[in-house]
Amino acid sequence: MARYTGPSCRLCRREGMKLYLKGERCYTDKCAVSRRGSVPGQHGNRRSKLSNYGIQLREKQKVKRYYGVLETQFRNYYSMAEKQSGITGDNFLRILERRLDNVVYRLGFAASRKEGRQLVRHGHFTLNGHKANIPSMLVRPGDIISIKEKSKKSSKIKELREKSVTVPQWLEADIEKLEGKVVAMPVREDIELPIEEHLIVELYSR
Ligand code: SF4
Repeated sequence: MARYTGPSCRLCRREGMKLYLKGERCYTDKCAVSRRGSVPGQHGNRRSKLSNYGIQLREKQKVKRYYGVLETQFRNYYSMAEKQSGITGDNFLRILERRLDNVVYRLGFAASRKEGRQLVRHGHFTLNGHKANIPSMLVRPGDIISIKEKSKKSSKIKELREKSVTVPQWLEADIEKLEGKVVAMPVREDIELPIEEHLIVELYSR
């Protein structure tokens, strides 16, 4: 499965903002955007005015990077969103939000979406009691996400019990049992990321 393997901080610097891809480090003064906000590369300090297309493109890249999704899959999600009833932009973000790696992060079982993806890939979770090692699986209301018994002994997972996270309304987390439940479909208001999804709709409608 193709994925981006370069430095995460470079992606934030390219977008000129924190995308919170590295968990706790993002909240410290080690964050590359806090230290040097310039765009990577030789001409990084030059500022050019973006065209409408450029603005739309940057918004799309930003959202892809938030969720760690590559172009083909991103485009497929968009096609799915277009076929659903309602507002395409809302549908699109709700699909991305339902990815298992994102859900693991939102439940507080991982420090970032990237870590969530890694933990899912390494087989630390079950979905409704079945093996779930595909980060792109989409959850539905009623689904139960659990950390495997064997994985509960790992120090990383033990640390989770000491942390408190704010879980969005569409999810419920039982940090003692290390279990999460999907109680509803996410709504647009549950996604607090600074995203202007209409720009992506405009881009893909060209
Ligand atoms: Fe982005 Fe986090 Fe790196 Fe800062 S530390 S640049 S927020 S990935």
